[in-house]
Amino acid sequence: FAVAPLYLADRELGVLIADNAITRSPIDLTNLRLLQIYAQAASSAVQNTRLYRELMERIVVGEQVNLTLRESQHHLLRAERLSTIGKMAALLAHEIRTPLASIGGFGRRMLRSAPPEDPRREEMEIIVSEVRRLERLVDEVLGYSRISKSEFKSTDINSLIRSVMVTMQEELQRGSIRLALNLDSRLPNAEVDEAQLRQALMNLISNAIEAMSSGGTLTLTTSFDEKYCEIGVTDTGVGINKEHWDKLFTPFFTTKTTGTGLGLAIVSQVINNHGGSLRFESVPMKGTSFHIRLALHPEHLLQAEALPEGNSLS
Ligand code: ADP
Ligand code: MG
Repeated sequence: FAVAPLYLADRELGVLIADNAITRSPIDLTNLRLLQIYAQAASSAVQNTRLYRELMERIVVGEQVNLTLRESQHHLLRAERLSTIGKMAALLAHEIRTPLASIGGFGRRMLRSAPPEDPRREEMEIIVSEVRRLERLVDEVLGYSRISKSEFKSTDINSLIRSVMVTMQEELQRGSIRLALNLDSRLPNAEVDEAQLRQALMNLISNAIEAMSSGGTLTLTTSFDEKYCEIGVTDTGVGINKEHWDKLFTPFFTTKTTGTGLGLAIVSQVINNHGGSLRFESVPMKGTSFHIRLALHPEHLLQAEALPEGNSLS
């Protein structure tokens, strides 16, 4: 038999073995030459195939890199645009706040001093409640640009909830919404940033009220175990469309014509600042329930813990 090497410039590929088991004729020099030529052709065919495969692989990788690059460029542009819009919104909200406070203040004063039979009372009520809505919007925008440093203090969450509800009383009445408070009176104080938590609760409650445009029940609950407390905000409103579930907490995501889309983004930031978790359940046309879970003491913040079932964000 005869052996011819298969090789490339930089490495060997193997060997080609030819024998005369069938022909039985002697292997002469011409046969060897032929085998050598054949081996060379085979080597370069192998080489070409290999190069071709490598090229194709690189093209695929290149295309992927290109795609990723284009995507991140897109994200970057969007982030930059959002940040500019955010700064403008914060500036605008700040400017609107002071005159709005005067309008609201005078409006409330006029309403208080107007006799019950005054025909303009209804219009004054509209001014007052619309100003309140604007004030909340302004607070949401400012709140979003402000949440940075947290100040944790021992806080009675039940009282906090009650005081938030006092400020929202008027809206509940206007919307024919019944309030059910299921607050566990044994709830211990929790270490929280009161202003932030107040804002988060107001945002959840506003959403709940807005989801019940033709009336309903708003239920607020508190409960606790050894380490955590939980606050629930439940409405009997329109519910959240499943296809919106993963976008809810994205800044500026809104399905409302006059929404800011910042409410839930703020809630999620506040919960993050507290190392807590948030989950929700929603059934279209039945209602929605949001649950905030917070550590009672900051030393539990870092303890890993399995989240309960549901759609959660931690
Ligand atoms: P906004 O209220 O300004 O629209 P949010 O961030 O507060 O912004 O809420 C985002 C969206 O999530 C809302 O537009 C609405 O579609 C949906 N959503 C939030 N809470 C509720 C709720 N309780 N019931 C129904 N839909 C809700
Ligand atoms: Mg909202």
